Amino acid sequence: MIPYGRHAIDEDDIRAVADVLRGGMLTQGPKVAEFERAVAAMVGARYAVAVANGTAALHLAALAAKLGPGDVAITTPNTFVASANCAHYAGARAAFADIDPVTLNLDPVALRAACRKLGKVKAIIPVHFAGLPCDMPAIKAVADEAGALVIEDASHALGASYADGSLVGNGRYAAMTVFSFHPVKIIAAGEGGMITTNDEALYRRLLRLRSHGISKGDYEFLNPEEAYQGDAVNPWYYEMQELGYNYRITDIHCALALSQLGKIDRFIARRRAIAARYDAAFAGLTAARPTQPDGRARSSHHLYVLRFDFEALGMNRGEVMRRLASDGVGSQVHYIPVHYQPYYRELGHVRGAYPHAERYYEQALTIPLYYGLTDVEIERVIAAVHKIAQPARRSATA
Ligand SMILES: *Cc1c(COP(=O)(O)O)cnc(C)c1O
Repeated sequence: MIPYGRHAIDEDDIRAVADVLRGGMLTQGPKVAEFERAVAAMVGARYAVAVANGTAALHLAALAAKLGPGDVAITTPNTFVASANCAHYAGARAAFADIDPVTLNLDPVALRAACRKLGKVKAIIPVHFAGLPCDMPAIKAVADEAGALVIEDASHALGASYADGSLVGNGRYAAMTVFSFHPVKIIAAGEGGMITTNDEALYRRLLRLRSHGISKGDYEFLNPEEAYQGDAVNPWYYEMQELGYNYRITDIHCALALSQLGKIDRFIARRRAIAARYDAAFAGLTAARPTQPDGRARSSHHLYVLRFDFEALGMNRGEVMRRLASDGVGSQVHYIPVHYQPYYRELGHVRGAYPHAERYYEQALTIPLYYGLTDVEIERVIAAVHKIAQPARRSATA
């Protein structure tokens, strides 16, 4: 079965991990800082903080933004649950605004309306769905007007660029940007996440929260009578200044991620080429249409989503998925609208509130797209989709 997404590991990745295992530091060694510097340099951000996974990165970003009880953060319903959950981790709550039906990203107009309706919004968490960057200048303008801070969930979008050509994560439109290095994402760490920022205060807060809220002298000590003997810092002293976590990432994971990062241009070029091949192959279909037609050259192409007209096909989505599977083609749905989840229903979110996201969900199906997909496999995917969505042609030449 061809999966919808998967990682690509070469011998050089394996060597990079083995080198760490043969060295002296499995965690809190040099690879973490090296990976942070490499991502910051690539995207053009001043600071980067690597953490255990993308969800931890979102959690810490929410805490660094000082989200707390009584606060609201707005995100898109068309995302993985973690984009909304991070507000709740911090004791705040998530709200949603509808997507643009063409970009499938947060619609700045709906976002502005939601901000005005809610009155006070502490943070806005746009998600660059499938690797296509949101309209960030417009979202930043709405955020500024609302007095909200922007946390980009760029889990899909490492290496993608904004309309101005600069790379996602450079801090031009957001206080913090979060990345994930889960194996299906653009580069793999096994599990891994990152926050980039240009704000030194946020950076310091993120570092502290990553490791139990403990300062080892990188901040002014709050308990000087414990910290000092005369002018000298006591050599054993550490100080927990706020409630933090162990969200550290290991050198093993960072060595893999660094090795992968060296290949990101190749990874994205291949993803883009596969997307272009699919776009051409499916251009003539009416019952299965490519999505996100604009900005193809700027997307990191994390996912390839087709919108199916299941009614016209006389087949429901489960049947289509089973038929694709019987041809060896895996598929998945990205995403069930977050506000449909029982946890969010329980909090009062209702079906029908975000019609574009809901209509999109009814039609969405993700087909395989990843670096290691071979040309033969691509043609197999295309043939399997055509078999379902191409009206049986009575051959005119027969
Ligand atoms: C993958 C993903 C996350 C979570 O990342 P993990 O590294 O799996 O914790 C968050 N948001 C979105 C949109 C994602 O796709």
